[in-house]
Amino acid sequence: MSDTATDRLQKQKLSEKEICPDDLLKGQEEAFARDVARLQQRLGEFVSEPCPACGADTGAPAFEKWRFHYTTCAGCGTIYMKPRPSPAVMQSYYSNSENYAYWGKYIFPASEAARKEKIHRPRHEKIVEMTQRFGAGRGLLLEVGPGFGTFCAVATEEKKFQRVVGIEPTPEMAQACRERGAEVIEKRIEDIADADGLTGADVLVAFEVIEHLYAPRKFVEQCARLLRPGGLLVLTCPNGQGFDIAELGAESLAVDPEHVNLFNPQSLSQLAASCGFEVKEATTPGRLDAEFVREAVLKGKHDVSKQPFLKRVLIDEWERLGWPFQQFLADHGLSAHLWIVARKK
Ligand SMILES: [Zn+2]
Repeated sequence: MSDTATDRLQKQKLSEKEICPDDLLKGQEEAFARDVARLQQRLGEFVSEPCPACGADTGAPAFEKWRFHYTTCAGCGTIYMKPRPSPAVMQSYYSNSENYAYWGKYIFPASEAARKEKIHRPRHEKIVEMTQRFGAGRGLLLEVGPGFGTFCAVATEEKKFQRVVGIEPTPEMAQACRERGAEVIEKRIEDIADADGLTGADVLVAFEVIEHLYAPRKFVEQCARLLRPGGLLVLTCPNGQGFDIAELGAESLAVDPEHVNLFNPQSLSQLAASCGFEVKEATTPGRLDAEFVREAVLKGKHDVSKQPFLKRVLIDEWERLGWPFQQFLADHGLSAHLWIVARKK
């Protein structure tokens, strides 16, 4: 690769630190630790479910983290928490989360401008490009789980879609969306009725939502209900077979008690196909795997001394090899960040 090409890639590279400023992380980690402790007190209410992607009920233990147990599905390779918090426990967890409150108060305001330009605007461009490539309309765009509403705000500003609506049941989040100029319906997706006027959507996006859900299949079915035939479903989530999860296991940041479903490109495709979608694309455009694993090594949390090849790439020749290695992962379905695009039949 030429120096110019390397420079160009380096400039595109998204640094973890811009997205989550270091000095705020300590408070966030403490808030999250209290959330986790609260969840541990309710372990007795956890319930066992079969694989959220393929429905098989056989698998092998993947790992244990903070007393939460994960299974790797023998059928499709999805890693999932088993047993998992019941819907009531999940509801209580999120509505009382100190971590989300801390995020909303400190981290989000400090990083919103960077997130808007580095994450949400490129995401929006990508969605628009997909509507062209896959021949979808640009009438109604729905976002499920818009959080603070940054993506909805970008999509509303850009006016590439006739109408943009966020579906957000949490009152504080819905209010944050409105403050950013986004139209919001304050309901859960399953409570949306025909009278809400949101059926027949051209595109439905849900960024980093499906890994949190108790019943992902029901969610994908609800998405299908809101889309019109030919409409596009775009989901993003961690890839349980991606590099940083494969390498770090339970130590990966993607493994936490909120992420009860760690799908992979094949298993999430299979789930969407079984809910009335034709899968157009499953890609892993992640940019942070190598950096995450390198950080774990540098902090002494992960040992690559017996893996000379990885030590060379991630430590000894990081400047030369780190980014091209990340590109290789991304280009071959091996990064831990997954995008799936599917068209409703
Ligand atoms: Zn499975």
